[in-house]
Amino acid sequence: MDQEQLAANLKGIRQLLSHLHGEVTALETSYSQVLQVLRKLEGDASTDDLSGLYRRKTFFEKWDAVLGECKKLNENCGMLLIDIDHFKAINDTHGHQTGDEVIQRVANLVKQYESPRCFTGRYGGEEFAVAVQGTDAEILGLAEMMRRGVERLYGAVPGTEGKVQWKCTISIGMSSAAKDGYDSEKLIKSADDALYEAKKRGRNQVRAA
Ligand code: GH3
Ligand code: MG
Ligand code: MG
Repeated sequence: MDQEQLAANLKGIRQLLSHLHGEVTALETSYSQVLQVLRKLEGDASTDDLSGLYRRKTFFEKWDAVLGECKKLNENCGMLLIDIDHFKAINDTHGHQTGDEVIQRVANLVKQYESPRCFTGRYGGEEFAVAVQGTDAEILGLAEMMRRGVERLYGAVPGTEGKVQWKCTISIGMSSAAKDGYDSEKLIKSADDALYEAKKRGRNQVRAA
């Protein structure tokens, strides 16, 4: 092969490599776009549109995993069930749109307490669930902070030029592994009973099972 032939071959190889490089870059871009879409779909499926919190199903999948882990490590964890007080009256007095805003604002406040040891979910209409790893005192303290935080929330009712404002309170029921063991069903039932007790005793309060 003479010098000229060799140079021509090398040029061809360089061109081919440069073309291949372009193809690989394009493939990488498509791959990362597909990943982005998949991540978004995954997020949409696991979180609730209105509140931005985990949907009930996702919440309980994560909660069961935490329970299993805590049981293995013999660490305490607990659950809070939160229910907005007289929410039906908020809807009836100020309208459904305000009701939705109240749910969003309470959810945002509750979500602010999320950490590697705490996550939150929308349990139902105006009900939320919180999973916490920590001592009973820490879990109760967190519940009390949430309750007081919600007491300070307020907002303007649409269509009243800010003349009418909404306010709300929450009741919270707490249960924990220290008392009920690591049984998911039992912990939900206990937190629900405690929540019922909080309602019965006058609302805007935290009760432990
Ligand atoms: P309590 O203090 O005993 O909890 O009284 P309550 O009025 O909050 O309880 P109840 O369970 O009777 O009312 C819940 C209401 O929440 C009924 C339902 O119409 C309303 N609701 C459920 N989901 C939504 C929602 O996404 N948006 C709005 N605006 N209202 C909702
Ligand atoms: Mg309710
Ligand atoms: Mg309620």
